[in-house]
Amino acid sequence: MSENKTKLAIIIPCFNEELVVKSTVETLLKVLDRIIAKDKIASDSYIYLVDDGSKDSTWSLIEELHNTYGSRVKGTKFIRNYGNQKALIAGLLGVKAIGCDCVISIDADLQQDENAIETFIDEFHKGADIVSGIRNDRKTDSFFKKYTALCFYKLMNLLGVKIPPNHSDFRLVSARGLEILEQYSEEGLFLRGFFHEIGLKTAYVHFDVKPRALGSTKYNFFSLTSLALNGITAFSIVPLRIIAAIGVLTVLGSFLLAMEVIVEKYIFHTTPGGWATLVILLAFFGGLQIFCLGIIGEYMGQIFNEVKARPRYIKDKELL
Ligand code: UDP
Ligand code: MG
Repeated sequence: MSENKTKLAIIIPCFNEELVVKSTVETLLKVLDRIIAKDKIASDSYIYLVDDGSKDSTWSLIEELHNTYGSRVKGTKFIRNYGNQKALIAGLLGVKAIGCDCVISIDADLQQDENAIETFIDEFHKGADIVSGIRNDRKTDSFFKKYTALCFYKLMNLLGVKIPPNHSDFRLVSARGLEILEQYSEEGLFLRGFFHEIGLKTAYVHFDVKPRALGSTKYNFFSLTSLALNGITAFSIVPLRIIAAIGVLTVLGSFLLAMEVIVEKYIFHTTPGGWATLVILLAFFGGLQIFCLGIIGEYMGQIFNEVKARPRYIKDKELL
């Protein structure tokens, strides 16, 4: 019997994951073995870890795993922390350079259900270029994260970026998807939006989220806000148009106000509206202007980052 030639790569972004990295790799190797035994993927399928500038012993554990399992466990290390999105991009482009037919990204804490990997592969064999993992619920998220995430997806949809809610970075991408990714050089690429936008055949697989076994979340309020703002400004210019619309409405409103003032002054000969109205209007439009400037500033920041065209990340080491 000839062996299945589908070479699968699993990429794992890791930031300070010394508590889980070893057991995660061992679990995933077992999953790989199981799918190889069913002849759904090639026996030279492998795991590729991206150490996103960890300060703990994550990298030495990755080296140890590489020494134990050889080329089945590969990895690269950033010279500093660049954030989860950059680690994922480095993983995707890293395995593209090494070679694979499809790649699946999964978190180091294995909160996503590793048993869904086989279903991802089945969807790939049925012809999907992208298989997106959709969380069944957000039970494991904090109240704050759950509702801010919900608002974010609602907002993105309103702004014209049709990402399904409860989408995650647990996904399969085919070699074709990777080829397209390589052509996108933008620095602030937001992967969830990107893979949705390029229009390749996409399948959805639902999975249960487990609580984090060990260690703590590597995201805080600021990194989540930054990810959300980046997602919006990288994929939608609707906020800029809303500003323009507010401008037009304000001009119309002030025109009506001016009419009222003129009528009061020249027809009724009364003094126009009082101090309170003025102060409220001043405060309101002062705030509105600063808010609008802030939105424009966000886009300027994107342009600033893109124009410099700096490398997305610098790799320090690589184990192949
Ligand atoms: N991660 C990363 N760089 C960062 C933050 C997180 O590579 O700056 C990785 C982290 O090691 C994990 C994944 O991204 O593999 C998801 O992070 P985490 O589990 O902390 O996020 P949560 O599940 O709480 O959303
Ligand atoms: Mg997690």
